[in-house]
Amino acid sequence: MSDATLGVFAVVVATLLGLVVGSFLNVVVARVPERRSLVTPPSACPACGTPIKPYDNVPVLSWIVLRGRCRACGEPISAQYPLVEAITGVLFGLVVWRFGPGWDAAIALTLTSVLIPLAIIDQRIFKLPNPITYFGAGALLVLCVVAAAATGEWHRLVDAVVSAAVLTGFFYVFSAVFRLVRNKAGLGMGDVKLCVSIGLGLGWLGPRYVLVAFYLSLFLGLVFGVVITRAQRSGLQTKIPFGVFLAGGSILAIFLTPVLSDWYFRSL
Ligand SMILES: [Zn+2]
Repeated sequence: MSDATLGVFAVVVATLLGLVVGSFLNVVVARVPERRSLVTPPSACPACGTPIKPYDNVPVLSWIVLRGRCRACGEPISAQYPLVEAITGVLFGLVVWRFGPGWDAAIALTLTSVLIPLAIIDQRIFKLPNPITYFGAGALLVLCVVAAAATGEWHRLVDAVVSAAVLTGFFYVFSAVFRLVRNKAGLGMGDVKLCVSIGLGLGWLGPRYVLVAFYLSLFLGLVFGVVITRAQRSGLQTKIPFGVFLAGGSILAIFLTPVLSDWYFRSL
């Protein structure tokens, strides 16, 4: 096989893997906030409780074949399920297209898999559950150590750890100062803990990825904050799920950092 064929093959495999991972992330989103097991019981229709047959559990396709309804009771099944699967599939394909198969892709894919469920949960209930942020931090640290050992690129492990420490430290201090000045929480500890995963994953790719993610997150959060306060005329009381913007900014940074930093350095 030629290099190009091999590249296309890797992207297709990654997309299929992403669809399956996305299906699992749906389970994470539904169960982790309720502290339910990820393994048992098997998936069932939320309306009638009928267990979902394996042939009705094929990512995206089953939902389309069943026209978004449960086979047993006919109640609608949320479009969020196929949407999360499709988005995860596309992002997995893009990551492998961007980096090629290897340690960089493995680390970017792990970070993406942590960010997707956290963004959805934060948007829904304004929480970033510890089991996911802790898993992300642990898994990415292990991956970075193994990747450094395998490639001998120990300086990238140092970049990852320093990036995580700086990013987490910055948001921790910001959150503490905000609490002191305004006498209420402006930034939750969940956001601070999420920064460990982001710092490690993006720091391994290069410190400039962390910087781009930082600015994109603030920018997205600011735009959303201005739009929502204008719409609701409620001043600064509106709760903003900042984890959504941290996640969105970080995922965008994976793809946009080379373009943005080229443009930045050329404009100097
Ligand atoms: Zn049903």
